[in-house]
Amino acid sequence: MTAGQAQFYSKLSIRGQPWRDAAACRGSTQIFFPEQGGNWKDPKELCMSCPVRVECLDFALRSGEKHGIWGGKSERQRREMRQVAHPVTRQRGV
Ligand code: SF4
Repeated sequence: MTAGQAQFYSKLSIRGQPWRDAAACRGSTQIFFPEQGGNWKDPKELCMSCPVRVECLDFALRSGEKHGIWGGKSERQRREMRQVAHPVTRQRGV
């Protein structure tokens, strides 16, 4: 298990995240941490049919999750979303 996977499992077990009970990925979270050059298409497709995709993405953005696919968005896509939301931070290179 990678550090990112361990973090994912840890965060999913946090109380107060009731959306996780309806997650389409329950029981198959390993696919959300593809290796570089691995399969990113299948997990993103699963996310698109997930009833809690918005909640999942919101959680990942608010918690600063850096690893894996959350809410159908890759690490790079979430980083770009954060930079658009916080342009001053982007200018500073943070
Ligand atoms: S959006 Fe994707 S990663 Fe998030 S809970 Fe649903 S299936 Fe899992």
